[in-house]
Amino acid sequence: MPDIEVWSAPGRVNLIGEHTDYNEGFVLPFAIDRRTTAELVVRDDRTIRVTSTFADRAVEIALDDLGPDRLDGWSAYPLGVAWALGHWADTSGVPGVEIHIDSTVPVGAGLSSSAAIESAVAVALNDTWRLGLDRPTLARVGQLAENKAVGAPTGIMDQSASLLGRADHAVFLDCRSLESQLVELGFATAGLELLVIDTGVSHAHATGGYAARRASCELGARLLGVAALRDIGVDDLDRARDVLDDETFRRVRHIVTENQRVLDTVRVLRDEGPTAIGGLLDASHASMRDDFEISVPELDLAVETAQAAGALGARMTGGGFGGAAIALVPSGSLTEVRAAVERAFAERGFAAPTQFTVAASEGARRGL
Ligand code: ADP
Ligand code: MG
Repeated sequence: MPDIEVWSAPGRVNLIGEHTDYNEGFVLPFAIDRRTTAELVVRDDRTIRVTSTFADRAVEIALDDLGPDRLDGWSAYPLGVAWALGHWADTSGVPGVEIHIDSTVPVGAGLSSSAAIESAVAVALNDTWRLGLDRPTLARVGQLAENKAVGAPTGIMDQSASLLGRADHAVFLDCRSLESQLVELGFATAGLELLVIDTGVSHAHATGGYAARRASCELGARLLGVAALRDIGVDDLDRARDVLDDETFRRVRHIVTENQRVLDTVRVLRDEGPTAIGGLLDASHASMRDDFEISVPELDLAVETAQAAGALGARMTGGGFGGAAIALVPSGSLTEVRAAVERAFAERGFAAPTQFTVAASEGARRGL
């Protein structure tokens, strides 16, 4: 029997900083205790074969035939990573592999099962093929795979969280310099739970409004004469209002204020602790609902109900148009918040949401 080795990588929750990554701004995600595993066996040829418990069929391709246009479906994530590694390392002599994927990250819920599968495969191949790439580079590998092989124009946040996360810490990432710092969350010490409310409304980054929002941001930056919206501050918004049409202005205002909220959240976490960040989470949701217009009724209901039932703050998380909301809840109010959300969804005739708490956890690693 050949040796089977296993690597794993987590999904992530973005605490705050939504759609700021591709605007070269700031994000504050953390890795969660839901992981994707990649079991790997080395072959004696140059074929790569991938299977997943979530897919009926194995997909197999010669390493020399890998290319972004030759991949589709779920296998574009793991095979796209194998292809993208070749941009940063010499993979011409590496052996073929069998990779089996399994996961406890809900798929399509905004918790980045996509980055989890990319990062698990990236660390597995980086180790097995002895490529020696560092974590920030592996994040770019995952992003390249997702952009070119999958065709989703997403930023670098998800892969960074999955690769750089640490227990009880968030990853404060500058998406321009790609410098990151770990910021202590201290939820458990403060008696807080981070509740995820998965609405079950599915989103599709490759085809949905994500690309349209990205285009609006690029238009705004161009009209304002900056390289990226990162270069606009809250003080510049009055000028931006004069230059931009109303819709583009509101898209820009979300990004600019959201960047500021990330910086404020990091400062508040360090100076006052997690019980003081609720207002920033609430403001982030309002901005995504009203200015960026990426929320849906189910997410708004989850957020409003959690807030009314005792959450310190709540917001939708992830790219939007469905997926999950998060709520920061004192442990003593958790049962009540969950029940209130359940009731509210039933009253509105929405499908029952899936609710679970998450803890900030270790990033990608060898082993489970
Ligand atoms: P999210 O990242 O929010 O979960 P995405 O649409 O970005 O949603 O990524 C979900 C896609 O990633 C799935 O449709 C599938 O193609 C792929 N994927 C994620 N996890 C797995 C898995 N364990 N096995 C196979 N494919 C997966
Ligand atoms: Mg994703």
